[in-house]
Formats: sequence, structure tokens, C-alpha cells
Amino acid sequence: MRYSKFFLPTLKEVPSEAEVVSHKLMLRAGMIRKLASGIYSYLPYGLKALRKVEQIVREEMNRADAQEVLLPMVQPAELWKETGRWEKYGRELLRFKDRHDRECCLGPTHEEVITDLVRREVRSYRDLPLNLYQIQTKFRDEIRPRFGLMRGREFVMKDAYSFDVDEEALDVTYRKMFDAYCHIFERCGLDFRPVEADTGTIGGHASHEFMVIADTGEDTIACCTKCSYAANVELAPVVNRGENLELPSESEEPLKKVSTVGMKRVEEVASCLKVKPDRLVKTLIFMADGKPVIALVRGDYDLNEIKLARYLGVENLELADEETIRHVTGAPSGFSGPVGLKERVRMVADYSVASLKNFVTGANEEDAHLVNVNWGRDAELPELADIRTITEKDPCPKCGGLIELKRGIEVGHIFKLGTKYSEKLGAFFLDSKGRERPLVMGCYGIGVGRTVAAAIEQNHDDKGIIFPVPIAPFQCIISVMNIKDEEMMQAGEVLYGDLLSLDIETLLDDRKERAGVKFKDAELLGIPLQIIVGKRIKEDGSVELCERASGRKEVLKAKEAPTAVKERIKHATGGACTRQ
Ligand code: ATP
Ligand code: MG
Repeated sequence: MRYSKFFLPTLKEVPSEAEVVSHKLMLRAGMIRKLASGIYSYLPYGLKALRKVEQIVREEMNRADAQEVLLPMVQPAELWKETGRWEKYGRELLRFKDRHDRECCLGPTHEEVITDLVRREVRSYRDLPLNLYQIQTKFRDEIRPRFGLMRGREFVMKDAYSFDVDEEALDVTYRKMFDAYCHIFERCGLDFRPVEADTGTIGGHASHEFMVIADTGEDTIACCTKCSYAANVELAPVVNRGENLELPSESEEPLKKVSTVGMKRVEEVASCLKVKPDRLVKTLIFMADGKPVIALVRGDYDLNEIKLARYLGVENLELADEETIRHVTGAPSGFSGPVGLKERVRMVADYSVASLKNFVTGANEEDAHLVNVNWGRDAELPELADIRTITEKDPCPKCGGLIELKRGIEVGHIFKLGTKYSEKLGAFFLDSKGRERPLVMGCYGIGVGRTVAAAIEQNHDDKGIIFPVPIAPFQCIISVMNIKDEEMMQAGEVLYGDLLSLDIETLLDDRKERAGVKFKDAELLGIPLQIIVGKRIKEDGSVELCERASGRKEVLKAKEAPTAVKERIKHATGGACTRQ
């Protein structure tokens, strides 16, 4: 491609709408443009990167015996009503009516559609296993679309759905998909970790997320520094449940009410009362599937809503509103506690509060806290559960080693679904003994656009993108320093022809721009290799070959450059020169 003809509108300024690096750089490098909130157009340079990831995904899916289909984006409400998700999915599901007043939605995921297809076509165990995938645009009316392609409303996803005869066969398929995902993200050149994950609204028995490690990630993962354990903090269990054991030797002090005017936060109360936050018990009031529930956790820990929802076995868990809090405690939020509640509601405490003595809680009265609260004497010890988030002070749940918390971007998610959807939708098959049984399913997603964004989030510097070779829109850029100089331009043209004939995707910077502009753009675009055709070509026929990632420069004869480029690409892609 010739830069002079390429639709590549780069920006010098950092666009104010962008918060994270990948979003800024994708706008600046002319990859995407925003149409509406969470809805983006892909420009040629951005689409090339997207297609590269798609191609790797497609190759690995095919290799793992999945077959490509393309399912409709517009889906009838009836199907969603059959699984009960029409009511449950909430406002992320964009619903509308067609001209015949029929209710429809835009597909945020395709369990319903694929299971409908398969229930009509698959009859016998002989047709199984079956694994179907698509690479398609999804729509989710996200409450807070942000960070460009990272959390869009319209986005490209690869989604696969597998059908097996039983759980054992599903285990085999699941493992195959797990391995395929590892190959995909390895081939994309990314630093990633598969982690144990929560199954969320899709449901099911087992699930792993694939996380690209990056400081700006929205997820936190707990990784063991000793063994291979890694899990989303949403579900990583805490095993040292009876910590803070120095307390039992203390004697119980008399209960006291103290004034804490306007102090709602743990830190404020702790510093006012001159105690450490681990002497406080935080009291949070939730609505769990419509019913109020009180949750207690030690002041220095975070309550984990996912663990709490799982423990309670509820689908919807949200913090209660002010009115409910007043109703339950008799006081405004910030002053709740387990002693002297107005209303008797279910109370769950994290293990960390069980061994506390003489602790501080809200007094269920505005501007007041209680000190020297003790279980048994002042309030009954509630039911105990692991409902706090793991910290770096907790041991690894698997080997007892040290836990390290890292930020990650979820680029893929795989689930064992079991028979949840097949039973609801009546997707049965006849087994080898002629018995009718529900299909055992799995589902497997990859955010294609999010993977490109995550790759940039992980690979950039202050000058721009540093694309990993396998997903770079071009592998090489030839920067001709002065196109008016015939000798230079001629050398650029020859190199361009030679690189193309070696199947190297090349951008020839043949613009009438100053050298400085060309260098800046090359850095911003992040093409892995750059050949600079400048004065040297006239002196001794040589050019400079620069590596974007390392900044390493090498001077070599122009005619040796194409094979040198080819070699480096081969090296970076493990021998496979991925082409579109
Ligand atoms: P998240 O927790 O980030 O909302 P999710 O659990 O809803 O993700 P899945 O339903 O498992 O996501 O979807 C599969 C993959 O699709 C995710 O791993 C992610 O890479 C991608 N994805 C999900 N939502 C979005 C979005 N709004 N924008 C871009 N990619 C997305
Ligand atoms: Mg989501």
C-alpha cells in the first residue's frame, strides 16, 4: 500500500474523549472513529488489525474442529422467552418491534439461536460432538460504554457453541477449546493468563477467562507466585479464615456509644476513634432478588458482591437504597451495624469478623457509632461465609504460596453450560441405546476488537503503538526521506516491489512530507519494522532497518534488506508468516 493513497487520517493531538492509552492511540493512528456512544467505524488501518486477529482465531478454531457459521443478529423475542432470558437479561438487551409489531432484539450472545438451530437438525449421538462458531457483530447496550473498542455497545465477537453427549465428552471439548485459546493469544503475541472465573448471567458449572495482563485492565486477578493458580478476584477463595487471632485474650470492655458526626467512611471513623480499620466492622445492606440482606466484613477488607450473591444463591444483588436502609436500621446509610436493628433481616458475616472482640460498628443512629461491641453479648454471631475479596496478604488457596494481584483485560471467556439451555429449549438427541437425552453444551467467546485494544494497551510507548508482529496491519514501512530525490524514490520503489514479492505486507511512505513527520507517524502507527531510505542510499547504496519494539537500528545494503525483513518476521511469528 502507498501511504499517499491510503485512507489513514492520523492525529497529532490526543483526543479529549479518550481515557485509556489504547483508545487514544487507536484514534490517533486512524484506526477507528466514533459514530455514537460505544459505536465505532473501523478505518482501513484498524480493520487490518482486526482481520489479523480474526484470521488467527479462525485458523485455531478450525484446527480444533469447530465449524464456522454466521447467525442472524436480529432475533425473535419468542426464543428468549423460552429460556426465560427475555425477562432476565435486563437493559443490555436492545429490544424493539418490527413493522408487524413482533418483538425482537439485537443479539448480545447466541445461545438461544444456536440451540434452536441444533434442536431442529441434530437427532442422534452419531451427529455429535458438534462445535459451531461465528465471528460476528454483537450489540449490548452497556450501561457505561468506554475505552473505545474495549467496552463498546456494538463490537465484534467470536462465539462458539459445543454440543456433546455427556459431561465427560464436554470435558474433552472444553479442554480442546482451552488449548485453542492459549494458542490464539500466544500467536497474537500477547502476555496473558487463563484464570478461573465466575459464570455470571450465562450460567454453568465451570469457566475460565483469558486475561491480557495490563495495568489499565478492569479486572483484578489473583495469581500465585509459586504454583499455576490464577483466578479472578471475583471468586478466588480466602482460606485463612480465622485470622486476627490475637484478640481472644482481650477481656470484653463495656459497650459505648460515641459521636461520629458526618463520618460515614471507615477511614474517617477509624482515625477519629484512633483505632486501626481492622477493628471496624463494615455493615452493608443489599437487595438480594428483592429482599434486604445485611452483609458484614472487617473494615480493612472489601466485600465481594459476587461471592455474596453466589452464597445467597441469588441472581440480582445490588446495594439497597436509602429508604430501605432507613427502614432496616432506623438510620441513614453510613451508620449501620449489627446491634439494635429495627427490622429482622438475614445477616451474613465474613469469616474475618467472627474472631473480633471489642470492635466498632455503626450504632443504627445518625452520627453515632458503637465501640467495644462483642459477639454473643451485644449481638448474636450471624451465619459465616467467605464473602470478602482476597488480598496479597492471603495465601494461595491451592498451595499456600504468596498471592500477587495483577490487573487484566478479559479478552476471552469459556464456559461449561451443561444442559441449561438444551433442557429449556428442548434440544434432545437419541443416545446409542435409543434414549432421549438433552445435549450437553459449552460456549466460548473472544472479543476480537477488545483483543486489538488489549494488545495496544500492553504494547506501546510514549511515541505510539508497538504492534506485535502477528497482528500488525503492516509488517514493514518504507520511509522515503525525500520523494523529490529521484534516486531515493527509485530505491524505495524497488524495495517496495521486492518486499511485496516476498509476501511482506508493506506500507510505502511516499508522501510529500518532511522527514520528521514521517518518523513521527511511523512511530505512532507501530509497524514492527521500518526501512529508512535516506542519504546513505546515494553514498553507498545502504538503508537503515529499524525495529519499532527495541529501537535497534542496523545499516545494510538496500538489496539485502528484504531478506533481512523476512527473517525477522519469521523469527517473530515462530516461522509462520500470517497473511490475510
Ligand atoms: P465483561 O465482564 O467485560 O462485560 P462479559 O463477561 O460480559 O464481559 P462475555 O459475555 O463472556 O463477556 O463475552 C465474551 C467476550 O466478548 C469477552 O471475553 C470480551 O472479550 C468480549 N466483550 C464482552 N463485552 C464486550 C464489550 N462491551 N465490548 C467489547 N468486547 C466485549
Ligand atoms: Mg458484560
